[in-house]
Amino acid sequence: MASRNAGSEATYFVEYSGDSMTKEDPSNCPFCGIFERGEPVSMVWEDDQVAVFVVLKPVNLGNVVVVPKRHLPYFADLDDELATHIMLVAKRVAASIRECGLQCEGINLF
Ligand SMILES: [Zn+2]
Repeated sequence: MASRNAGSEATYFVEYSGDSMTKEDPSNCPFCGIFERGEPVSMVWEDDQVAVFVVLKPVNLGNVVVVPKRHLPYFADLDDELATHIMLVAKRVAASIRECGLQCEGINLF
């Protein structure tokens, strides 16, 4: 799996504006804004299919989002291979959060 840790390169965060987004029209999709329009984020992990980055208003320390790099607004849109890959990336990131010394009581996926 090709990957890179861009955390040292990026200094910005992403915030969802709340504007409506459809499956057919990704123009208001905050994630497509990152991958297709090059909007900056603080990237934690990235490969050719999946990205993990810090959110602007984290619920807890270590709050990151794990998303596909294609416009797939609904979880059910993921094919089995991509869904599996996303979960494996989330598992690795969860392990890294545990190992980095960040004080977190647990890891939640939602
Ligand atoms: Zn999108």
